[in-house]
Amino acid sequence: MKKSEDEWKKILTSEEFLVLRKKGTEPPFKGKYVHQTAEGTYVCAGCGNQLFSSETKFDSGSGWPSFFVPVSNDAVLLKPDISLGMKRTEAVCACCGGHLGHVFDDGPAPTGLRYCMNSISLHFLEKKKSDP
Ligand code: FE
Repeated sequence: MKKSEDEWKKILTSEEFLVLRKKGTEPPFKGKYVHQTAEGTYVCAGCGNQLFSSETKFDSGSGWPSFFVPVSNDAVLLKPDISLGMKRTEAVCACCGGHLGHVFDDGPAPTGLRYCMNSISLHFLEKKKSDP
């Protein structure tokens, strides 16, 4: 899914544009999903691609919603990121290329990974009682 910068500006809020398209970071402990514990699925705020299940969310204490694995192997792409003088791994939506956050290797079992996400990059779809 390729869109121009102007097209994204029309679709996204200014906050979403800054994070998803300009690799911004929301302030810690301010995002709406930091303490979210309801059952459901987190999808990309840019394109709706399914990214994470609430079953893999954990409280990392970092101030950002954290997951130990994406919903599938091809949902999230990882890219080397050497911005700000740090060697990090950037996580982007595999569908629209939107910036989601970074991945660190201090997460819990079974993966040992911490997908440190911006709430702004995500939309939460709560599981309904009728869902399987
Ligand atoms: Fe996306």
